[in-house]
Amino acid sequence: MYVEDIIKQIKVNYPDQREFHQAVQEVLISLAPAIAKHKKYQDYAILERMIIPDREIIFRVDWVNDRGEIQVNTGYRVEFNSAIGPYKGGLRFHPSVNIGIIKFLGFEQVLKNSLTTLSLGGGKGGSNFDPKGKSDAEVMRFCQAFMNELYRHIGAHTDVPAGDIGVGAREIGYLFGQYKKITNRFDGVLTGKGLNWGGSLARPEATGYGCVYFAQEMLKERGESLSGKTCTVSGSGNVAIYTIEKLYQLGAKPVTASDSKGMIYDENGIDLGLLKEIKEYKRESLEEYAKIKPKCKYIKISDYKEGTNAVWNIPCFAAFPSATENELNLCDAKNLLQNGCKCVSEGANMPSTLEAIDLFLKSKICYGPGKAANAGGVAVSGLEMAQNASMHSWDFESVDNHLRSIMENIFVKSSETAKEFGDPTNLVLGSNIAGFRKVADAMIEQGV
Ligand code: GLU
Repeated sequence: MYVEDIIKQIKVNYPDQREFHQAVQEVLISLAPAIAKHKKYQDYAILERMIIPDREIIFRVDWVNDRGEIQVNTGYRVEFNSAIGPYKGGLRFHPSVNIGIIKFLGFEQVLKNSLTTLSLGGGKGGSNFDPKGKSDAEVMRFCQAFMNELYRHIGAHTDVPAGDIGVGAREIGYLFGQYKKITNRFDGVLTGKGLNWGGSLARPEATGYGCVYFAQEMLKERGESLSGKTCTVSGSGNVAIYTIEKLYQLGAKPVTASDSKGMIYDENGIDLGLLKEIKEYKRESLEEYAKIKPKCKYIKISDYKEGTNAVWNIPCFAAFPSATENELNLCDAKNLLQNGCKCVSEGANMPSTLEAIDLFLKSKICYGPGKAANAGGVAVSGLEMAQNASMHSWDFESVDNHLRSIMENIFVKSSETAKEFGDPTNLVLGSNIAGFRKVADAMIEQGV
């Protein structure tokens, strides 16, 4: 009753925040056995307090485009929970960004960061600004204007933003430069920084590599591996690219990638060098990949079978949703299972709908929910903070080894917690309860 009441309450209080309802519902339903077992969580009104951010900051961002016209966007930073560390989480620049999206991401981030075992609270921010099609100078002016407000809310021990969709090395550079101009401080106030000015090796690779390490752990428990297997990947940003790279390193064959306009299916395996050139350096559409590789199949979004994502219709052993929220629905989940998929490891945040997750759990395939499987990115952000604080930088191998052991640890903890609550293959339940307990206990110990 307690859990259901809270879910009802957020739907009534925030009727338009659909993605936030979805994220809360997924978590709270799986927390029910832990709440029933430990009465203290209800006595201390932990759920009521955890679903409301500590602070929601919304601001106007005015900037001038290359034609001299004044543009107006909205900026957000939602500081969700700092029970176990400073607020930590990315910034998303995408036209779909609104307060409901930022709250869903911030809520997920609290539990994800807890799972990493590092001392990181949860937050998220961003803007409805679309970097796509903008010049470097426009992106710079937008980032500077965004930081003109954000700087007063962040700090190495307060709130440490990073990247997310639409925010990569270029944007972090402009944001950091402006922060430094305003405050005259060189602080580890953002992560995902450039290597010459406080960034960590393996941070760009971390989310993708971590997601594949997580899949490896899930499969290892069942005596399986990725070697020699066909895999599908959605997206073509940082997460997808380094998922593909790690899959190749492990002897698997990734055959798909996608963007906002369509998807590519390269039966012999995605040409990673070409993908990087088109997406990382030229910022072009995947259609360009298909033009250069005529044997590769390109399907435009408008040609996808209605209500499905064409990526999930390609037969595979393991699938890595690495694009965005709700990119994999019940129909897609059915397609994957019918085609023999045995493992889904989520590089994106909340890529599967609630119905798709239910089906994955019922089918008992290996299913790694985003907040566990994609925690490698923020984990290496935590390692970047540790390097900044100690004024040392670690070599690639050290960071990568740390990342691998963090991912192993997240799997073990999620799996042990799932076993403790009698549902051994349910890593949704396992990761949600494991992440939740640490934050909730800290809140109780720190008083009201
Ligand atoms: N945006 C990433 C995430 O969803 C990384 C956040 C960070 O590094 O702070 O976890």
